[in-house]
Amino acid sequence: MLKSLLSLCTVLFITFIFVSHTSCTDEDCEAVVWYEDADSDGLGNPNVSRVACDQPSGFVADASDSNDTGLASTPLSAFDEFNPDAVTISFDGDEVTIVSNGQPNHTSPYWEDTHPLYIEQAFGDHTTPGFIREGSFTVTLPLYPELASSSSATGLGAIGISVHGPPIFNDEEGPNRPFDEPTATGLDYAGAHNGPSGYHYHLEAADVPENTTLSHDDEKLIGIMADGFLLYGRKELDGSYPTGLDESGGHFGTTPHSDGEEIYHYHIKNEFYIGSYVMLFGGDLQGTPNTIL
Ligand SMILES: [Zn+2]
Ligand SMILES: [Zn+2]
Repeated sequence: MLKSLLSLCTVLFITFIFVSHTSCTDEDCEAVVWYEDADSDGLGNPNVSRVACDQPSGFVADASDSNDTGLASTPLSAFDEFNPDAVTISFDGDEVTIVSNGQPNHTSPYWEDTHPLYIEQAFGDHTTPGFIREGSFTVTLPLYPELASSSSATGLGAIGISVHGPPIFNDEEGPNRPFDEPTATGLDYAGAHNGPSGYHYHLEAADVPENTTLSHDDEKLIGIMADGFLLYGRKELDGSYPTGLDESGGHFGTTPHSDGEEIYHYHIKNEFYIGSYVMLFGGDLQGTPNTIL
């Protein structure tokens, strides 16, 4: 009895060795590297991988996801709003590069008077020198922008790119020189004027007959900020004013482009900055700023 048990064990042991040996050298199995796709966008995280013959659940063959954290993507349809005559948009993995020549697709007294979009200054008592000229603004932004642990103050120069092409500036007009009422009265109806780096917006556009495209007290897309978050007009898609905005005018909610998904986005704050002027963006950036060159 003992002898037969021993011989049975021997047979089982030999069978075990044989089966293990067979599975280890199965020539039909080609083990490959799989990358984790935590946000289920079909793109894998190059830093989290597994070697296996068969695709593990939650892993993909792609390794191009530089931000695999489950964050909402900036809705790609928002990029269709940009003026194609001025702005070139290109996508690469989880990033988008925006290049603009800074020239708007609307009328302005800041165009040279031979330009088809030139109009006389309809209001305001002076203008800054110079004409709208071709410039160059380039920024690469994440398609999955994240809120930063601390906000960042904006500086002089471009802090965003508008859908019309020109850059968005903040509430400063020079070093230690806040945007003031005399400066505001020199802006065109688009809320823009010329500066050393070219034509740029500070204010929400005015509600005048000349304004046929720019946002005024509505839900239109204004542009994209240097942290990758979209900036919208004062209202939501349903015509209401958003509530519970943070100090930069931002909140999580649906937008005209987000297809029902809640994404973080900014609004023009529904408040007068000086007089009856509404500032496009006077707060801090709540994400991580990227340099607009
Ligand atoms: Zn300015
Ligand atoms: Zn909103």
